[in-house]
Amino acid sequence: MGIAVKLRIEDISARVRTIDFVEPETEVNRLLAQGPIREYRVERPFAVHLSHYRSGMELFFSGSLTADVTATCARCAEDFNVASYRDFRFVIAPKSMGEVNGRDLTAEDLEFSVYEGEEVDLSPLMREQLLLALPTRPLCRESCRGLCSQCGANLNLNPCSCSIQTLDPRLEALRSLKVSRR
Ligand SMILES: [Zn+2]
Ligand SMILES: [Zn+2]
Repeated sequence: MGIAVKLRIEDISARVRTIDFVEPETEVNRLLAQGPIREYRVERPFAVHLSHYRSGMELFFSGSLTADVTATCARCAEDFNVASYRDFRFVIAPKSMGEVNGRDLTAEDLEFSVYEGEEVDLSPLMREQLLLALPTRPLCRESCRGLCSQCGANLNLNPCSCSIQTLDPRLEALRSLKVSRR
């Protein structure tokens, strides 16, 4: 299993070929760090299983990727591990084809990427697929109770004294019912 390489257009034929490679995590982590909140970190190079073939000038790709990712929960701010897996399928066409139909490619054509020159650089395409695999709002679990808005305590670990004081006894009974049902 090698590091991602650029594919030469002439090596992509009508016959389906499958390759396995790993993609370095550094660049995708740099992109993730640029976001407003640093929610994800890719722990190591991620594995890609990719099939490709050509039909005319269009190049067809399908496959899957697997990444070891640490996420920061949007509610309780604890780090947790997510194994990210994504199946993908996309087509890329020569850049010149983008205007053939009398209009430029729009944002709606996102799945329809373009290539230029003799090679296809798989790295940016694979980084995009990995970013798409990450949920927009990471939660350590669906039932995460988050942090107390008053004292900042992690309510998954311990109910803090603020919540005990303000909780209506009828609500308390309802909550313990829900907990025991889980
Ligand atoms: Zn959480
Ligand atoms: Zn509190």
